[in-house]
Amino acid sequence: TDPSVIRNFCIIAHIDHGKSTLADRMLQVTGVVDDRSMRAQYLDRMDIERERGITIKSQAVRLPFASADGTDYVLNLIDTPGHVDFTYEVSRSLAACEGCILLVDAAQGIEAQTLANLYLALENDLTIIPVLNKIDLPAAQPEKYAAELAHIIGCDPGDVLRVSAKTGVGVSELLEEVVRQVPAPTGRAEGPARALIFDSVYDAYRGVVTYVRVVDGHLSKRERILMLSTKATHEMLEVGVISPEPVPGDGLGVGEVGYLITGVKDVRQSKVGDTVTSVSKPATEMLGGYKDPRPMVFSGLYPLDGDDFSNLREALEKLQLNDAALVWEPETSAALGFGFRCGFLGLLHLEIVRERLEREFKLDLISTAPNVVYRVVMDDGSERIVTNPSEFPGGKIAEIHEPVVRSTILAPTEFVGAIMELCQTRRGTLLGMDYLSEDRVEIKYTLPLAEIVFDFFDQLKSRTRGYASLDYEPTGEQVSQLVKVDILLQGEAVDAFSAIVHTDKAYAYGVDMTKKLRELIPRQQFEVPIQAAVGARVIARENIRAIRKDVLAKCYGGDITRKRKLLEKQKEGKKRMKMVGRVEVPQEAFIAALSTD
Ligand code: GDP
Ligand code: MG
Repeated sequence: TDPSVIRNFCIIAHIDHGKSTLADRMLQVTGVVDDRSMRAQYLDRMDIERERGITIKSQAVRLPFASADGTDYVLNLIDTPGHVDFTYEVSRSLAACEGCILLVDAAQGIEAQTLANLYLALENDLTIIPVLNKIDLPAAQPEKYAAELAHIIGCDPGDVLRVSAKTGVGVSELLEEVVRQVPAPTGRAEGPARALIFDSVYDAYRGVVTYVRVVDGHLSKRERILMLSTKATHEMLEVGVISPEPVPGDGLGVGEVGYLITGVKDVRQSKVGDTVTSVSKPATEMLGGYKDPRPMVFSGLYPLDGDDFSNLREALEKLQLNDAALVWEPETSAALGFGFRCGFLGLLHLEIVRERLEREFKLDLISTAPNVVYRVVMDDGSERIVTNPSEFPGGKIAEIHEPVVRSTILAPTEFVGAIMELCQTRRGTLLGMDYLSEDRVEIKYTLPLAEIVFDFFDQLKSRTRGYASLDYEPTGEQVSQLVKVDILLQGEAVDAFSAIVHTDKAYAYGVDMTKKLRELIPRQQFEVPIQAAVGARVIARENIRAIRKDVLAKCYGGDITRKRKLLEKQKEGKKRMKMVGRVEVPQEAFIAALSTD
């Protein structure tokens, strides 16, 4: 295809603002899907995406478009994942485009996540086409939100397009604007091939399907390709475009977007951000912006039923084929038994993996409270990377580094006070504030990631009656005064409850946890002290008083079958107890204590 008729673009939108619906309409308007085979959210393939209404994996679809200007164009719509955890994948999808549709619900206005992705698009020098969706809604306020969008991107409110993805109003006009405004791709047709991998997806039947955008040269069917980051070479078994199903072809040229199949079985062999070139005429210079995915949040995953340990391992191995960012290793906990310490890009990533393990692999899991990665520098200059609080080093520590993020919060102005208060208690540093309109404000804070991981989002929602939205991106690390708090039952530390917290919060954490556990752990035959300690120093203490449990006393003599039943019941109950030293702790107590409320 002649690059001059190609337009590569994506849609940036907040969840529920109508991205999938708009993509559906574009498939219909361009005739790629006929009305009969149309189903809602055509491009959202994974069940979990559909149910949760989020896009996890981006897709790319080729739309032939006969413009009113008389030219037949090829539009490539590249779908970007919408969530904070996947910022890197978003940035690679954006790097594969020249333009982007900024889609905003005309009854809601722009949200923090959209704003953060818009900044990414601007960094990538994309042409931005602002669009208000859902103008058919009675609650739509197109004037108000057009002014807001105009303020943010610095255009005229009259340039903000208005569509209804639901009814289709304005969608053809929008495609005309894409053709008119988005620049055609440019690249060296004769040079060595260079293609950017912006997504790679594992498919049980075909192995890994890699989505690429060709920048220079041509990738042809049947040639051997080279991945520049790993230097691995692969035979190309198939190359083609998606429209809306895979259509194999002879190759891909400058500016084209499509997929490759090489027979590799694991997405880590086909990394997002990597550059593909051909073995016969290899490029030497990688396309910019390559990064290895780095887990930011760790949590222990344990099977509720110890017999499921090997099933959990198998399930994690399978998930990893499709998820280059997921890392894990076996770990043993005195309290929870055998499990795995897993690393995730963020909280949503954790939640998605957990949900898939439970749903697709039918596993019941306990997950320990998530923690971030700490870099601990010892007095002798050596360094430890701590991904598990129970592995926090003893000995003389010089300094502890923790990851920090730059967060963007959008909210109605009336909540500014409540939001600032929350951010202050979470060790935030105010970076700035911008009034988007007279009643909406954008607030920027630097915050330790650990503070966000710990129920920040829920707090933000409850303090703003659900009106605030949040986005954040990692910006590095800072030195902080942190300590490890241990929780001890009868003098024995329970590894699953150890936490690394700021010095100022150690006492509150200790009091909280010991209180919680006193309520959750049943009385035993002996007294059980519960303590919170920093090193050897006890900072909080609760006591579970001893009782003599005598279930038979309730039976007022007589009925022997009833007595037996009670005894059996008690025995059954014991099975789900874990022993911590001499103390019997019901599994439920662990689960309840570990779930943040
Ligand atoms: P996404 O999360 O951005 O992909 O949003 P969806 O496309 O899934 O849309 C979210 C909800 O908004 C769905 O219930 C859609 O039917 C609805 N929706 C999308 N576009 C429109 C529109 O133009 N008008 C109205 N009234 N509803 C819409
Ligand atoms: Mg969607």
